[in-house]
Amino acid sequence: MRERELLQHIAHRSADLTHACPHVLVGPGDDAAVLAPHPDPLVVTIDHTVQHRHYDDHLPLELVARKAIVRSVSDIAAMAATPAWALATALLPAGYPHADELFDHMARWARHFQCPLVGGDIASLPSDMPGPIVLTVTVAGHARNPILRSTAREGDFAYVTNALGGSLTNQRHARANPRIEEAKQLAGRIHAMIDLSDGLGVDAARVAHASKVRIELDANAIPIHTDAKGLHAALADGEDYELFFTAPPNANMPSQINGTPITRVGRVVAGAPAAIVILPDGSTLDASDQGFEHG
Ligand SMILES: [Mg+2]
Repeated sequence: MRERELLQHIAHRSADLTHACPHVLVGPGDDAAVLAPHPDPLVVTIDHTVQHRHYDDHLPLELVARKAIVRSVSDIAAMAATPAWALATALLPAGYPHADELFDHMARWARHFQCPLVGGDIASLPSDMPGPIVLTVTVAGHARNPILRSTAREGDFAYVTNALGGSLTNQRHARANPRIEEAKQLAGRIHAMIDLSDGLGVDAARVAHASKVRIELDANAIPIHTDAKGLHAALADGEDYELFFTAPPNANMPSQINGTPITRVGRVVAGAPAAIVILPDGSTLDASDQGFEHG
């Protein structure tokens, strides 16, 4: 299918979007989408998903599409925002035979996470270039009070959702469920938040640097996923798409939200910005560089 035909196909398939999603006034098919304004601030993010870097060729196309959408939806969740719409582009090898299927899956997952694709574009690589496939997804959402990385305070406790590490096992990195509902329920009682894309060590350190605080993580408290090979994996594997957040001690934190466990893993203290793990023997490990820098 040629690019133009494919884009027409995408527009045709999305024809019911304006009925299903009242805020989508004009969906795919025109020069641009038209979206109704919303009273809350708009929260927008963009992310790449690159073949051989973010997934390998064993990953089924449906999960490639899911991961491309999830990477951006998880960032919207991390702001405690409600997803509203998405845009996707694909850079594909010339004559790539699965473009239609790929966009079908991306459209389906975008709708699943309440941010329907309101537009997209496709470009072909030169015919002598086999790849890599590059998917770029923008997701926008709304949040009355977006939760930032820069607002952790000395004295806060630090928490994570669910359990960490081993995300490559059973392709879990591509099956993640962004913690949209959990984040929205947390929003009123927490100070700072980030989603765990690159690993607890790196991501907690990002909060520490943005907030100019030191975060101490208790090695004994970090929930290690059954797929993970120990503490280092829980700190460094990345692609958990869980939440790390800080809240004041009087936040009355529940032990779970929506069936997702909430675990206290440490505290926010004064000091040079870093994420420090307190090991069981009392020694410390700077976790700030334990993880992937996906950029
Ligand atoms: Mg993020």
